[in-house]
Amino acid sequence: MFYKISVSIFYLFIFSISFLFNSAVFSQDISSDIERQISELTESEIINKAFQFILDYDDQTVANQIHLNEIPAPPFMEERRAERFAEMMREFGLENVKIDEEGNAIGRRPGSIGNRTIVISAHLDTVFPMETDVTVTVVNDTLYAPGIVDDARGLTTVLTILKTLEELEIQTDQNIWFVGTVGEEGIGDLRGVKHLFSEHGEQIDAFISIDGSNDTRIVNQALGSHRYRVTFNGPGGHSWGAFGTANPAHALARAISHFENEASEFVAEGPRTSFNIGRIGGGTSVNSIPFSNWMEVDMRSVDQERLLQIDDILQASIQKGVDEASEMRTRGPELTVDVEMIGNRPSGEIDPENQFIQRAMAATYYFGNEPNLVRSSTDSNVPISLGIPAMTLGGGGSSGGAHSLDEWWYNDEGHKGVQRALLILIAEAGLQR
Ligand SMILES: [Zn+2]
Repeated sequence: MFYKISVSIFYLFIFSISFLFNSAVFSQDISSDIERQISELTESEIINKAFQFILDYDDQTVANQIHLNEIPAPPFMEERRAERFAEMMREFGLENVKIDEEGNAIGRRPGSIGNRTIVISAHLDTVFPMETDVTVTVVNDTLYAPGIVDDARGLTTVLTILKTLEELEIQTDQNIWFVGTVGEEGIGDLRGVKHLFSEHGEQIDAFISIDGSNDTRIVNQALGSHRYRVTFNGPGGHSWGAFGTANPAHALARAISHFENEASEFVAEGPRTSFNIGRIGGGTSVNSIPFSNWMEVDMRSVDQERLLQIDDILQASIQKGVDEASEMRTRGPELTVDVEMIGNRPSGEIDPENQFIQRAMAATYYFGNEPNLVRSSTDSNVPISLGIPAMTLGGGGSSGGAHSLDEWWYNDEGHKGVQRALLILIAEAGLQR
């Protein structure tokens, strides 16, 4: 009892102290070296010119956002948008621009030292099928169209930053690659960024993804997921005539039951982990023993190890379901199961003490906002899981309705998002003096 009371008094004390000092020492979590670097940059003539250029170019930034959005880019059909994005990079002055084997558009801007490479990217794909009308409607300062934020805003931010560096002939110490990635959404399963970081790829030392609009958020934590389509197969037959034949629907039900029981216990403690059977299906008719039944499973965790563990629970439950339903049969062959992984996004996080994240936090404070370090599932999942400093930032403005037909973006000082991203990029790439 005494212990409890003293603990709460202790917390009360700490709380009052932090309350008193909260606003005054907000940036104590940023190292003084980083603070100095960011203020030197923001006081420099060239960065102020760059900020002014971004402001003057704002109308064109929005025009480019509309232009790119109106080129449809459903999953696995990003080619046209990728071509146009590459072409715009050439128009802006980049010479070394190509589309890689996976479909990513990559423009390379060499640094004067060039022993590190920093990527700034946005994703080309949308969640919408080809027939969706992606024409942009403009009402005052608000744009309406599917994809206009996610991720047409990101693409235009990347291009405006390139345009600024080219126009003002800003030379960085390190290489910068300007990238439009394919396959960020859903079934794309991060295929573009996975290709960039594949073992055959060239070394990338830091990675920024511009996704959405929010210019206070810094995604430094990756929410990982494993997704499966599991299909149970058997010989099937007449419900009366072939009674006793192993039944895939029964195996599916048993597998789900085992999985739910064990997974629920597993997720009750420890770092947050979730699971869901999102879809089930199969069978022929009420009077037929099915020859095939399937389910789709989604599992997520903040922790990569836990993700692998809940995955093991799923695999064991599937096998139990198959074995038990096969054992119940009185005739015919055993059941088989086909386990297809349809999604694999790794987890992880980059320490807020990391210099790259520190630079992003300091830059966010510079624009008068408190940085918000968050976890999400984005292109940055891949580098984060590899321990490569990476983050996802918004491109500025405000927005709503992502992934819906009512998606909108409002130009609420959108240029500040572009300026913040440029500042973070240049702080990381170094300015040649
Ligand atoms: Zn997105």
